[in-house]
Amino acid sequence: MDFELTPEQLTMRDTARRVVERELTPILERHDARHALPKNAFLQILQILAPLRLTAPRIPEEAGGAGISMLDYGIIFEQLPPQVGMNLLSHEGCIGRLYAECSPAQKSRFLPDLIAGRKIGCTGSTEPETGSDPRGIKTRLVRDGAKLRLHGRKMWITNASVCDVMIVTCLDAREPNGKPSVIKAVVERGMAAFETREIETIGLQQGYLGEALFDGCEIPAENLIESPEGGTAILKKSWAVNRPLVGLQAVHLAQSALDLALDYAKLRKAFGKAIAGHQLVQKNLSDMATAVMSSRLLCYHALATIDRGAPADGASAMAKRHAQNSCEQVVWEAMNILGALGLAREARLERMYRDARMLSIPDGTNELLALIHGRELTGVGAFRDAPAAR
Ligand SMILES: Cc1cc2nc3c(=O)[nH]c(=O)nc-3n(C[C@H](O)[C@H](O)[C@H](O)COP(=O)(O)OP(=O)(O)OC[C@H]3O[C@@H](n4cnc5c(N)ncnc54)[C@H](O)[C@@H]3O)c2cc1C
Repeated sequence: MDFELTPEQLTMRDTARRVVERELTPILERHDARHALPKNAFLQILQILAPLRLTAPRIPEEAGGAGISMLDYGIIFEQLPPQVGMNLLSHEGCIGRLYAECSPAQKSRFLPDLIAGRKIGCTGSTEPETGSDPRGIKTRLVRDGAKLRLHGRKMWITNASVCDVMIVTCLDAREPNGKPSVIKAVVERGMAAFETREIETIGLQQGYLGEALFDGCEIPAENLIESPEGGTAILKKSWAVNRPLVGLQAVHLAQSALDLALDYAKLRKAFGKAIAGHQLVQKNLSDMATAVMSSRLLCYHALATIDRGAPADGASAMAKRHAQNSCEQVVWEAMNILGALGLAREARLERMYRDARMLSIPDGTNELLALIHGRELTGVGAFRDAPAAR
């Protein structure tokens, strides 16, 4: 076991840092930190990431993807600012699922523009009345004469308000008397009776989180996805990868907060010396560094487990939950170390705190992640009540 990054991984990490500093940060800084980026700014970001193959890290090189391991992707992804990372995850996750589930004709229709960053993709599963329990979805695909129509609402969808392509999970109710099964449809921007809106949230405010309404949106039959591998298996695989990646966004924030606090503690003087020299400040810095390192290692471990092809549901759930919880604590401690300045907007920690809060929900809330991990540890599922004994 070697805990050092390889020379290639160090190069990938450093290249990603340079791209963030020289190309992405100036775009983010040109726009209001409190509002969603204009769509053309995000397209510009995707077109910077596309030549690095980061719009398609999960698909092989021969299909136009990066063909890299998920651990290598995680090392690169950790360097991205989370307001970019979350939107990239939705976009490239959509590409990964289209690649895994679509027919060759569908792939050649949808993938080239998405991979090149000319179009934006996302995935809509959550609805106003159901999130953690996907079995509760109500959005329906129905037959209306010769046409197929989609009725329903999707909520809390990353990239919804700017997407050109959305994979929508819905109930297949084409046979009025049959038991509806789950099916996926690709909805394209410009289709009639498809509307989206942005929702303002506490954090990741330059990113996109929105709602989509399908009010009888007509779906051409060639936009239905007949997944050869089975949609559920692909969805589970994509969650297992997404969780440590979201965890690494938390690591990015926590590392930034720790760096700020360390620099400040060495400069700020109280009671005749730098506060870094006070024992309790050192203990807090030690706690913070421990939280950052343990989070990073758990996320890398989960991704390496996926790369080995071993079961990773528990490892992924543990990594994301630990990294998100740790990140909140680290940012909180960094705020303390900066004293009153820690609360000021100019110190940037309040924004990190708000951004960290956003990471506790997507791809499994912390409670659900504990249950996924717990199920693996104990072999007993705790999600649903057992049927009452008669
Ligand atoms: C930043 C962000 C990005 C997102 N991106 C997407 C996206 O791209 N596509 C998409 O489809 N969705 C997306 N979502 C939605 C997200 O997946 C859901 O919000 C999440 O699954 C939780 O669902 P919910 O909000 O309906 O909460 P609920 O499922 O209603 O849960 C409410 C509370 O009950 C708890 N709870 C529920 N069941 C249990 C249980 N069995 N035991 C213990 N506690 C329980 C939960 O932990 C939570 O605290 C995103 C959300 C956020 C915040």
